[in-house]
Amino acid sequence: MLRFNFPIVIIDEDFRSENASGLGIRALAAAIEKEGFEVLGATSYGDLSQFAQQQSRASAFILSIDDEEFTAGPELDPAVLNLRKFIEEVRFKNAEVPIYLYGETRTSQHLPNDILRELHGFIHMFEDTPEFVARHIIREAKSYMDGLAPPFFKALVDYAQDGSYSWHCPGHSGGVAFLKSPVGRMFHQFFGENMLRADVCNSVDELGQLLDHTGPIAQSERNAARIFNADHCFFVTNGTSTSNKMVWHHAVASDDVVVVDRNCHKSILHAIIMTGAVPVFLRPTRNHYGIIGPIPQSEFAPAAIRKKIAANPLLAGVDAKTVKPRILTLTQSTYDGVLYNTETIKHSLDGYIDTLHFDEAWLPHAAFHKFYGSFHAMGKNRPRPKDQLVFATQSTHKLLAGISQASQVLVQDSQERKLDRHLFNEAYLMHSSTSPQYAIIASCDVAAAMMEAPGGPALVEESIAEAMDFRRAMRKVEKDYGKKDWWFKVWGPDRLAAEGIGKSADWVLKAGEKWHGFGDLAEGFNLLDPIKSTIITPGLDMSGKFATTGIPAAIVTKFLAEHGVIVEKTGLYSFFIMFTIGITKGRWNTLLTALQQFKDDYERNQPLWRILPEFCAAHPRYERMGLHDLSQSIHEMYAKGDIARLTTEMYLSDLQPAMKPSDAYAYIAHRKTERVEIDALEGRITTSLLTPYPPGIPLLIPGERFNRKIVDYLKFTRQFNAAFPGFDTDVHGLVEIDSDDGKHRYFVDCVRAD
Ligand SMILES: *Cc1c(COP(=O)(O)O)cnc(C)c1O
Repeated sequence: MLRFNFPIVIIDEDFRSENASGLGIRALAAAIEKEGFEVLGATSYGDLSQFAQQQSRASAFILSIDDEEFTAGPELDPAVLNLRKFIEEVRFKNAEVPIYLYGETRTSQHLPNDILRELHGFIHMFEDTPEFVARHIIREAKSYMDGLAPPFFKALVDYAQDGSYSWHCPGHSGGVAFLKSPVGRMFHQFFGENMLRADVCNSVDELGQLLDHTGPIAQSERNAARIFNADHCFFVTNGTSTSNKMVWHHAVASDDVVVVDRNCHKSILHAIIMTGAVPVFLRPTRNHYGIIGPIPQSEFAPAAIRKKIAANPLLAGVDAKTVKPRILTLTQSTYDGVLYNTETIKHSLDGYIDTLHFDEAWLPHAAFHKFYGSFHAMGKNRPRPKDQLVFATQSTHKLLAGISQASQVLVQDSQERKLDRHLFNEAYLMHSSTSPQYAIIASCDVAAAMMEAPGGPALVEESIAEAMDFRRAMRKVEKDYGKKDWWFKVWGPDRLAAEGIGKSADWVLKAGEKWHGFGDLAEGFNLLDPIKSTIITPGLDMSGKFATTGIPAAIVTKFLAEHGVIVEKTGLYSFFIMFTIGITKGRWNTLLTALQQFKDDYERNQPLWRILPEFCAAHPRYERMGLHDLSQSIHEMYAKGDIARLTTEMYLSDLQPAMKPSDAYAYIAHRKTERVEIDALEGRITTSLLTPYPPGIPLLIPGERFNRKIVDYLKFTRQFNAAFPGFDTDVHGLVEIDSDDGKHRYFVDCVRAD
């Protein structure tokens, strides 16, 4: 077996002392080391919580408790209290790691029950030989370690270790090929031998098959299904982009009516094109910060959906009263962290739409903390819909510990209908590579195992707690600056618990509240996930009005990037960070100090060559500008273009489909497109998916016509990009061409008019 580096941790104040007790504990340590286990000795708990953080590395704990320490009686004794606190910290995350108590003469009768219950044993010094005790502890430590690895990861580790020669692909043969070339060696040294030894192909039977869901892989998928409260789990190694297409191809065929969140991920739009479906869109609210709000609850009523079907020009021949949409897909956790009460939606549509699909790319953590209540697709002890399969697709790599592209499809059976796994697999195979990356499968497996209680809930609790601490720290800075000065705001409810994570009820969006600006929302329908933090920069208010001065977010995030802080997403006057389970105090404190630094440099109008050296090297035109001046000139251009209102209105404008998305796409395949300059776009039908960044939400879908608002927006973008190179608004779907006369021109591919 692979030797993992998990020491046995001894905490004894005499660990380094020259007395009998010190000799005794060191003899035990030596006996453990002789058996090949590493020992980590400490003389005190030190900072308890910090020490407990390290517990994930321990294979067992030996905690000594001295005789004298009992003098005050077990309930009051500081040593006992310390011990209890330490054990609580460890058990908060880890129910299994063996903990031993080590004493000289006293016995367990001196300890309260709540401590005894958590112990694997009480070692009496001098009663048994150190060798005997060591072997006993090591046996427990080993059995603990053996239970850690989930099925597939375990099998993969065993396989990579057994050193057999392979004749199958991949061609690098466990990494050996790399050793034959200098640059290959660099690659080998960088990634390490294990990554390459574990990079195997699917002809290794003992690991099972992802594509058929057999062997250890199937065992791991079942394990993950249990952990995530689903009836079925399918690991996917090509991201949730692929998981979404799988779900869709399982449920949707050409000309089917489908109901889709207008602000869905582009993979859903790709699925619409690939299946040939006719989409009916649910339209989310949005505020002028550009933050996307919820789709109002009223839009989920079957009657409201029937009305949309009846109004859709592409569905003229369809009887809205009798047609059943094949699927409804909802972005569950919008990009700004707004969640839906999934039980309300299931209940509203059961019997009308048979397949519900929650795109939980950003929400795999929610199942592990009661904070999220029923604001995620699958929880424990929830009622099953009567006749409705529920799918959730999750990017394990986005918020949990998956590596890039690790994703999963979860399925909940209904009372009357179970998923036909064979039929689902037809769609699964359509979108899977026949050579899946085994490291990704292993990370799906491990990411799931990490979320097992109590570890998973503890990790999620920690990330919520860090997010709350960050929000409180930001408010404190704001308060210290006072009303006359400015500071960045974190978007969220006005009320924030004074300490701890508070109640999730405080994070439920209520009708008419000013902070969200989404208007009249249904009661108990939406929750803001506090770990998603949108930070608002000064200059734009909720009504879309520009202040006289302002700081566009793009400048702040460039500044942060040069200070080693990379944010997830940048909007006009907001940017977005996330408190994943990988977050640390150090990380958000660094962000906070970098923001302070920004404010300082802004107030002093520091020259850009000094504070954004890398950016200025690439764009020398800004070198002599001050930070304040640059912010102001971009701000004024945004204000002049009234860009916040324009963006909001363009996203909320009524877009009429002229043809089915797949039919529009066919013009690309048949080379019957025309590259139309943006000034001439109004009324034309796009064949491309048009997606501006920010906000990264598809704006126009193949088959839809350009309206005036979108054309205005694109013209503004052209003007802006010419004025502020380096701050370009990137619009996917635009074709940029430098013409012979030196002009930079923008086009979109449209249906050819002939
Ligand atoms: C990121 C994302 C996806 C795609 O996930 P990948 O794992 O990157 O392929 C799908 N849906 C939503 C809502 C996303 O944010």
